[in-house]
Amino acid sequence: MSNYLHNYLSGEWQAQADAANLLRDPVTGEHIASTGGRATGLEAGFEFARSKGAAALQAMTYGERAAMLDQVLKVLQANRDAYYDISLANSGTTKADSAVDIEGGCFTLGYYAKLGASLGDARTLLDGTPAIYSKDKLFQAQHILTPARGVALFINAFNFPSWGLWEKAAPALLSGVPVIVKPATVTAWLTHRMVADVIAAGILPAGALSIVCGSSAGLLDQLRPFDVLSFTGSADTAVAIRSHDAVARHSVRTNIEADSLNCSMLGPDAVPGSASFDAYVNELVREMSTKSGQRCTATRRALVPSSVYGEVAEAVSARLAQIKVGNPRNEEVRMGSLVSREQYDNVQAGIRKLASEAKTLYDGSSQPLVDADPAVAACVSPTLFGVQDADQAALVHDHEVFGPVSTLLGYRDTAHALELAHRGLGSLVASAFSEDAAWLATTAQALAASHGRVHTVTPEVAKTQTGHGNVMPGSIHGGPGRAGGGEELGGLRALAFYHRRSAIQGSAQTLENLSATAKAWTV
Ligand code: NAP
Repeated sequence: MSNYLHNYLSGEWQAQADAANLLRDPVTGEHIASTGGRATGLEAGFEFARSKGAAALQAMTYGERAAMLDQVLKVLQANRDAYYDISLANSGTTKADSAVDIEGGCFTLGYYAKLGASLGDARTLLDGTPAIYSKDKLFQAQHILTPARGVALFINAFNFPSWGLWEKAAPALLSGVPVIVKPATVTAWLTHRMVADVIAAGILPAGALSIVCGSSAGLLDQLRPFDVLSFTGSADTAVAIRSHDAVARHSVRTNIEADSLNCSMLGPDAVPGSASFDAYVNELVREMSTKSGQRCTATRRALVPSSVYGEVAEAVSARLAQIKVGNPRNEEVRMGSLVSREQYDNVQAGIRKLASEAKTLYDGSSQPLVDADPAVAACVSPTLFGVQDADQAALVHDHEVFGPVSTLLGYRDTAHALELAHRGLGSLVASAFSEDAAWLATTAQALAASHGRVHTVTPEVAKTQTGHGNVMPGSIHGGPGRAGGGEELGGLRALAFYHRRSAIQGSAQTLENLSATAKAWTV
């Protein structure tokens, strides 16, 4: 196996170690790359990033760092074809699903390059206006944001090896904070190749971007008081991370994006065949099938009025039956595989679990896979479960099946629908579909209490809306409670995580001098 994913630390590619993990094509089972185990040189690598990387980045202005992001984007665009090949081989995704990850990453990078340019030649951000503390108005306080003095460690999930890196790295680098990324091992190849291309282009200062593949062992031990940690993955790992000694001891600022039982809601005004009804069905099918349901934002619980439960079940099932599942190299295939056979087993176990309390409304597993061996490939066909009297369901509010699986739940009235939505105990996103904009406005406010994002759709925006599951960089991504309590993106809001907010107190003249070289942080 020659395709070994070397670690990059202290501005150098590290020597090859014994292969500890083999990455496979999830459709054919073929070995495609390998990584080492526990990384060596971590302490020196983190220190190099903190001293050299941070110093070089923070010597630059926001405008200069934004221009740097734009150059990174150009490198990625120039190597785009290779990324699609890697995504196909390592994630088992169709071209359209690879685009969600690859183009999503590039779009977010470009977005922050443009946004950062508007901050111009400043190196400090002003938060709000001065508070006056003396009668003569001469003694005041101004809040400012300055870049964090440490490194940003990203521990990422397997489902977005491109977007998962760039949606975090763009705001971090724009803020002047060096990045160390640890991609999920199973799909690490794409993250690794992108980092290697950017390093080879020589755009970033030494220490600004590092990568550790293969094992998370020892990474958290390196964290120091001014570092920040961003984790995306399962709730169980999140618990281990939050309670890690270095994180607790040094009060390391931590952002967690974990499991989420997102819901979509069809309004009580729904009539089969109406524009809202059709938009709802389209979106649910898209949510279940995009990236084989391996999106943290995917709709897991579909809340519909009990009166149209049967019609929604029928319409969604008819659409799911048209989806060809199998080897994404075959052009007929609309849905590829999960990322690994291990995920396949997890999803099958989740399907069995939900089947213990829900009725199976559609089961695609009887359809043959296209060009894929069911004994080898990690392909799972869509499954639609249903519980018409939603009060009879408990597991669906508690167990996330990270695959093409969703459960239809019938609700009695809006209050019941909201109660069901909140039973997810905190989710990334809820969507609501209706022709009644007034109902959508009040429902959105009620949903906001337990959701990071509420996506409402009336027929007039059915074609232009950005999608329930798509994360737009101008909107925040993250949710309370079970979803991890994190918050990313949201335009310039994202920069707050990578900055320290301080109150500067002093004379009006002192604060005026300070403000003259800073830029207002308006979000
Ligand atoms: P995972 O097993 O928790 O792994 C996530 C990352 O953590 C991987 O890089 C993994 O490395 C690393 N890791 C594992 N154990 C660790 C430890 N003890 N200390 C430090 N790092 C450790 O999750 P996953 O299976 O990759 O991801 C699937 C889950 O992620 C789903 O449940 C989904 O809900 C969630 N997710 C959430 C979002 C969101 O934005 N909210 C986005 C995507 C996915 P290895 O790969 O080397 O084990």
